[in-house]
Amino acid sequence: MTVTAATELTERESALLAGVPTGLLINGEWRAAASGKTFDVEDPSTGRVLLTLADAGAEDGAAALDAAVAVQDEWAATAPRERAEILRRAFDLVTARADDFALLMTLEMGKPLAESAGEVKYGSEFLRWFSEEAVRSFGRYSGNPEGTAQILVQKKPVGPCLLITPWNFPLAMATRKIAPAIAAGCTMVLKPANLTPLTSQLFAQILLDAGLPAGVLNVIATSTAGAVTGPLIQDTRLRKLSFTGSTPVGRRLLADASNNVLRTSMELGGNAPFVVFDDADLDAAVEGAMAAKMRNMGEACTAANRFLVHESVAEEFATRFAAKMAGAAVGRGTEPETKVGPLIDAKSRDKVHSLVTDAIADGARAVVGGALVDGPGYFYQPTVLQGVEPGARILSEEIFGPVAPIVTFKNEDEAVALANDTEYGLVAYVFTRDYARGLRMANRIETGMMGLNAGVISNAAAPFGGVKQSGLGREGSLEGIEEYQYTQYIGFPNPDNA
Ligand code: NAP
Repeated sequence: MTVTAATELTERESALLAGVPTGLLINGEWRAAASGKTFDVEDPSTGRVLLTLADAGAEDGAAALDAAVAVQDEWAATAPRERAEILRRAFDLVTARADDFALLMTLEMGKPLAESAGEVKYGSEFLRWFSEEAVRSFGRYSGNPEGTAQILVQKKPVGPCLLITPWNFPLAMATRKIAPAIAAGCTMVLKPANLTPLTSQLFAQILLDAGLPAGVLNVIATSTAGAVTGPLIQDTRLRKLSFTGSTPVGRRLLADASNNVLRTSMELGGNAPFVVFDDADLDAAVEGAMAAKMRNMGEACTAANRFLVHESVAEEFATRFAAKMAGAAVGRGTEPETKVGPLIDAKSRDKVHSLVTDAIADGARAVVGGALVDGPGYFYQPTVLQGVEPGARILSEEIFGPVAPIVTFKNEDEAVALANDTEYGLVAYVFTRDYARGLRMANRIETGMMGLNAGVISNAAAPFGGVKQSGLGREGSLEGIEEYQYTQYIGFPNPDNA
């Protein structure tokens, strides 16, 4: 399998890139880094440089937090309706430029255009959802059980937040944090991933165009994440850290955040089991497997990482799944026929390959795939592995690539034990025609989310998040805004007794 040599950027791609801000956004202005340093952003399907951005240092990080702190009180005092309408305008502006956002994501991240278009819909929906939540965030008023006192409860913005996002969903991971923070009345410093910061840059400009006041959102792309965010996390003016990324980095940031007892939201790694029972609709299970495995080339925290299949249907499932995987065209995301784009970089691709070669060395068999793809860019063949033994490294680490290891089980108890045999607990998928069994699995699997006969369940209206070492807190839904609020209680004597 070979991917053909790269062509030059098209006129449309060049024009789009020319409109992406390249500075740091601090207090409403795009500016160069204090050091004058820059870093390059590359296209993972060709390795060519797309744009060069200002590279924030610690001094810029401090300026960004200064700006967020300076406007926090004024921003918190704005009417919820005003904040809601900024979000709604931003939703309309992103929607109007949906094709631009999709192309930009494909260029910097690699996923096929159709998938990028899907992310624009999903990611922008957080803007609309939280524009609606901004005006529906209520407290409560009640008496105590003794009848002697009154209890007034109100929700207040937590204050300035540091938001750190990963490279795999460049728009959605940003809107899932920024929209509820705006709705709640918090100011922010956003540090996007250095591999895919361009979408955040363009999105930040959209928010300014939608009327977001200067200083509410500050964006500091950097090639030295820890050096820039470390001092911010130790600054007592910061009140909240919301992080999406890997569990090892999340653990470290949680430890750092403990010094100032920061509020934290942690959306971390996953190791999703995909359980297929003997009574499953196999066509639906194979469709679901393709979606749960191949969305984002497998580079999703929600990606199915372990296929646990009842022994009586394992052969049939593997054959049908492998046929679909073999038919998924690998190529650059900008090419219309592409179903599988490149992985994000050489390191990620090499890690995927080492997991596959280890599994094969331990006795697994590649039904399809199992090799690197020649050509520029970091492509990997869609791969199905059968005969993977429980305990294999590929079953305990996030694969983050288009590789599906299959393990068989004999009964429900064994399926549950295998599903729970991981430090992660983000999402699980279960395919069965028996809904009682499906709901029983939800009770027995330690997971923050479960797809029942569904391979993709992300939605702005649903509470997204994990248990165990997959994280803390929820994004989206009713819970999402609460991550950016604290609860204040005011007690006073019952006026009837005065
Ligand atoms: P990552 O390496 O943990 O990086 C995530 C973010 O943290 C990036 O912005 C990165 O900056 C920054 N970062 C890295 N080291 C840091 C440090 N010492 N101090 C402060 N910031 C630091 O993860 P990734 O490779 O970008 O993303 C993939 C991971 O994210 C996977 O584990 C995936 O499961 C997880 N993920 C989880 C969810 C969820 O909702 N649960 C969603 C998507 C992804 P640089 O880019 O500059 O390194």
